[in-house]
Amino acid sequence: MNTIPPIKRLGTKLIIYSIITALIPIVMLGAVSTDTINTEMTKQAQEKINDDLNTAESVVNLKLDKISSLNKYIISNEKTINILKNNDTKELKTLAISYKNTSAPDFVVFFDGQGNVVARSNSDVTGDNSYEDLFKKVVNSTGYTSIEVLDKDSIKYENVGELVNIDIKGTDDSIDYSDSVQDSAMALVSIEPIYDKNGKLLGAAMAADILNKDYSIVDTVKDASKDATTIFLDGVRVSTNVQDNGGRAIGTLVSKEVYNHVVLDGKTYYGRAFVVNEWYLTAYEPIYDSDNEIIGMLFVGTPESKFLALQANVRNQTFVVGLIGLLIALIVSYLINRGIIKPLEQLKQGAEWVSNGRYDQKVVVDSDDEFGELAKAFNKMATQINISDEKLKKHAEELKTSYNELKELDKLKSELIAIVSHELRTPLTSIKGYVELVLDGTMGTINDSQKKCLQVADDNIVRLRRLIESMLDLSKIERGELEMYREKVNLKAIVCDVIEYLKPLATEKNIKLNKEVEDIAIEADKDRITQVLTNLIENAIKFSPANESILVSGVLEDEHIHLKVTDRGAGIPKKDMEKIFNRFYQVDSSTKRKKGGSGLGLAVCKSIVEAHKGSIWVESELGKGSTFHIILPISAKDQ
Ligand code: ADP
Repeated sequence: MNTIPPIKRLGTKLIIYSIITALIPIVMLGAVSTDTINTEMTKQAQEKINDDLNTAESVVNLKLDKISSLNKYIISNEKTINILKNNDTKELKTLAISYKNTSAPDFVVFFDGQGNVVARSNSDVTGDNSYEDLFKKVVNSTGYTSIEVLDKDSIKYENVGELVNIDIKGTDDSIDYSDSVQDSAMALVSIEPIYDKNGKLLGAAMAADILNKDYSIVDTVKDASKDATTIFLDGVRVSTNVQDNGGRAIGTLVSKEVYNHVVLDGKTYYGRAFVVNEWYLTAYEPIYDSDNEIIGMLFVGTPESKFLALQANVRNQTFVVGLIGLLIALIVSYLINRGIIKPLEQLKQGAEWVSNGRYDQKVVVDSDDEFGELAKAFNKMATQINISDEKLKKHAEELKTSYNELKELDKLKSELIAIVSHELRTPLTSIKGYVELVLDGTMGTINDSQKKCLQVADDNIVRLRRLIESMLDLSKIERGELEMYREKVNLKAIVCDVIEYLKPLATEKNIKLNKEVEDIAIEADKDRITQVLTNLIENAIKFSPANESILVSGVLEDEHIHLKVTDRGAGIPKKDMEKIFNRFYQVDSSTKRKKGGSGLGLAVCKSIVEAHKGSIWVESELGKGSTFHIILPISAKDQ
C-alpha cells in the first residue's frame, strides 16, 4: 500500500512542476503579446486617424476649390461684366438665381463697386452692405475663397435661417455655452472682384455654401476613411456623423479639454477624447478664417469600444490558447509520470522482496530506457546478494560448527586445567611441607647455602601454588562454578587485614601503605574481596619504585562503595588499560620477567568484581602512577 501522502508523491510533484513550467511561459507570453497587440492596435488606429484628418482637410479644400473656380468662371464672363456695368439689377438677380441653381451654393450675392448688395439669389432686398468686412478684402485684390463665420445679421436677408439654426445641447463633460441656439453660419465663401477693361472695380460676386447641417463633407470623409467626422463652429457640432440617440449629434458641444487645446491654444489634438457619450480615438484640427482667426475645428475619430472589443477578443483568444497549452502540458506530464512512476513502483516492490530475503523474485521493467537498465542492474544485484547470502549462510554454519567444537575444546581445556591443577596442588602441598621441615631444622642442621637454596625453592612453590589457585579460579569462573558466599563484612577491616598481610612485602622496598577507608558494611564474599584487594595492592607494590607510598581509599557513594588503590609507580600505557584485565596479558614481557607474575591476577579480580555486579577500571599516566577503581553495590539484592 502506498503510505506516502498524495502531496508528497513524486507523481503529484511532477504534475505541479509541469503545470508551473507550462504556466510561466504561457502567462508571460499572454501578458507580453496582449500588451504588444493592445499598444500596437491603439498606435495604428491613432496613426490612421491622423492620416484621415488629412483626408478630411483635402475634402474641404476640394469643396473650396470647386466653389472658387465656379465663381471665377462667373466673374470672367463678358455677360456678367456688362450686366454689372449697366447696373441692370433685374438681369443680375436672374444671373444670381441661375448661378445658384447650376452650381448649388446656398446663396449668391452681387455687389456694386462700393460693396453694397445689388442682387441676391435668395431675396429681393438690395442696397445693404451686410458683407462690408468681407468685401473690403477684395478691393484692389484678386479675390479669395475661405471658410468664414457669417453671423445672424450678415445673413438676415438670405432666407437661410432653416439651414443655419441649430439648438445647442450641453453634456456633462462639455464646455459651458451661453447661447441656446447656434444662429451663425459656418460657410465656404468665395468672393471675386469684377473689373472692367480699364481695370475699374465694378463690383464683386460672392457665393456661400453653408456647412451647418450640410453633411456632404463629413459623409464623404466617412465613406473614404470609415471614421466619424465633425465640423465645429467654435465648440458646437454644426455638421457631423457622430451619433447621439439614434441621430446625428448636431448642436452638441465639445469637451473642455479639447476646446482649450484646439480653439484656445490653436494646437492639433491627438488621442483619447470623450465625444458626446463615449470615448473615441481622435484628432482635432483648428479651422481658420481668411483673417487667420480660429473659428472652429475639424474632427475625425473612431469609437474606442471597437478596439476594446478587439482587444478583449485577442485577450480571450490568448487565454483559450493558454488553456489548451496547459491542458496539453497536463496530459503530457501525466503520460510521462506514468512512464516514471510505474517502473519506480516495480523497483520499490523489488527492494521490498530483497529486504524480506526473497532474492529470487525478479523486477520486470520492459522499457529500454534508463529504468530498464536500472531494473537489469537491480536484478543483477539481487542475484549477487542471493549468492553472497548463500555463502554467508554456509560460512555461518561452518562458524557455528567451529564454535561448538571450540566450546567443546574449551570445556575440555577447563576440565584439564581443573584436574591438572587439583592433582598438582596435593603433591605441591606435600613438597612445601617437607621443604619447610628441612628449612626450619627439624630434619637436622643445614648450612646457610643449603638454606638459601631451599628458601628459593620454597618461594617458587608459593608462586606455583598461587598460579594453580588462579587457574583453578578462572576455570571455575568459566564453567560458572565460582560461588560467592556473601556475608556482612566491614570493608575497613578487610583493608586493614590485607595491608597487615602485605606489610612485610612493602617494607622490603621501604614502601609506605596508607589507607583512608570509611567504616562501611558491605554484603560480599569476604575471601574474594580480600583476594581482589591483595592482588591490587601487591601489584602496586610490585610496580612502585622503592621509598614510595601507596594509598588505599574507600568511600560510600549512593548505595555503592568506591575503592581506589593509588600508586606512584611505572604507570600503564593507554593502549593497554583495557587489555590488562584479559587473561595472561602483561604490559611488557620483559617487565613480566623482572617482576614475575602470570597475568591472571586482574582477570580473576574482574571476574570477582563482576560476580558482585560491580565494575573495575584503571586510570594511569606513564611514569606517574596508576589508580585502580572498584565500584561495588553494598547490598546483596543489587548484586
Ligand atoms: P601479574 O600477575 O602479571 O601482575 P596481573 O593480571 O595482576 O598479572 O597484571 C597484569 C599486568 O598489568 C601486569 O603484568 C602489569 O603489566 C600491569 N599492572 C598491573 N597493576 C599495575 C600497576 N599498579 N602498575 C603498573 N602496571 C600494572
